[in-house]
Amino acid sequence: MDRRQFIKSAAAVSAAAGAGCITAGGTEKLALFGGKSVISQDAATQAKRAEMFAWPIVNDAMRKASDDVLKNRAMSKTDIAKEFEAKFAEWNGAKYALCTLNGTTALNTAFWVVGVGPGDEVICPSITMWASCSGVVNIGGTVVFCDVKPDDLTVDPVSFEKHITPRTKAIVVVHYMGSPCDMDPIMKIARKHNIKVIEDVSHAQGGLYKGRKLGTIGDIGAMSLMSSKSFAIGEAGMFITDNEHYWHRAIQWSSYARFKTSLPRKMWERTWNIPLGGIKNRLNQCTCAVGIEQLKKYDAERAEIEEAMLYYHSLIKDVKGLKIIYPKYEKSNKAGWYASRCKYDPEVFGVDNKTFVAALNAETGGGYTSGCNFPMHWSSVYNDEDIFGNGLPPVSRYLPKGVTPKALTGTLPVADKINDYVFGDPWFKHFDKPMIEQYAEAVHKVAANVAQLKGYDSSKLQHTYW
Ligand SMILES: *Cc1c(COP(=O)(O)O)cnc(C)c1O
Repeated sequence: MDRRQFIKSAAAVSAAAGAGCITAGGTEKLALFGGKSVISQDAATQAKRAEMFAWPIVNDAMRKASDDVLKNRAMSKTDIAKEFEAKFAEWNGAKYALCTLNGTTALNTAFWVVGVGPGDEVICPSITMWASCSGVVNIGGTVVFCDVKPDDLTVDPVSFEKHITPRTKAIVVVHYMGSPCDMDPIMKIARKHNIKVIEDVSHAQGGLYKGRKLGTIGDIGAMSLMSSKSFAIGEAGMFITDNEHYWHRAIQWSSYARFKTSLPRKMWERTWNIPLGGIKNRLNQCTCAVGIEQLKKYDAERAEIEEAMLYYHSLIKDVKGLKIIYPKYEKSNKAGWYASRCKYDPEVFGVDNKTFVAALNAETGGGYTSGCNFPMHWSSVYNDEDIFGNGLPPVSRYLPKGVTPKALTGTLPVADKINDYVFGDPWFKHFDKPMIEQYAEAVHKVAANVAQLKGYDSSKLQHTYW
């Protein structure tokens, strides 16, 4: 059976049935070397292909909601923000929510709220985006990095426990690239050591871990809702919690104009209307109104993405050297499949992931990325950067003498290498079967003809987020 027939029949049979063989030995010239690409490169086909990835989906209701805020000159009021917060909290099954300017400021707020201060340590997985932990540095804390699990790139609970010291105040866990962290062992370890748990839900809004919404299992959920994330409404962030005191503290840190209406009197009578963090975190209500509309359609969008991504993976599951990353816990999912990665085995293919991805993008027109995030523990910001130019790097300034952030983190063997073992799935937003089948076909073609890639000079290619 040739490759195209295989894709068609695998598609017809149903994913689960799974045929045995797959990637017939290839003799087709790869598009990277001038062969005919699986997806035509003509402008019309490519425009249709690009639609598959266009995000976010903005509808008339969103445009009208935003326009109404403008018409009412209500951009800086708080009524629609409060409505958005109430609905967002309800959707998550959380008691309280507070919207923020972006995910970075939601996380920054969370660190102060749980009491992180000078000399405190916060554990964070090294594989994430910087905003998961940079707020710790602002308030005199030290970030200690732990390793991730090679199977799903989320926090390794064993490594987490190894990095605990008497100064550890909190851990930030990241539901990385859609995958829920293994929250049961994480919570157990954290409770045992009296460590607060902040969940960074920027990659998995609305996702589930054992039937529970991500962001509601730890002490605080903080997340980005910016335009490229799966719940995408522009520059925006959200802070959720069941702890009323934490919610009050979050307001006290950065929500100017909410003090008298939302806080007990004793929390503002001395400070008056001045946010303790020196931050004004108020979200423009045009964005809040768009968020209320996004809540109405997001679950349906997520379901379609899930269907598309699982179908695609069903078509490539027999390609040796590739493996889907998907939660194995019951009643768990990958929410919106934000920036989804699959595992890649360079030993099986004999070429690196950058080259493999370049070949796939040449066959399709784009959609694949190589690597994931740059390991955070490599950055001087968390080790010895003299940010204020006074010879006192903020991350080590308040640590006991002789203790360094580098020594606290130690070696992280998985994080150091993980970028060579993953690549980014095309993020299909629609269940467009023929298009998905063509993407799967491209994977089979490149895998079958991978010998052509040996010796390819990938030294000029960079991982996508580096
Ligand atoms: C995007 C992102 C953030 C920061 O959110 P912004 O809205 O861009 O400030 C935080 N953590 C992770 C894991 C992210 O991907």
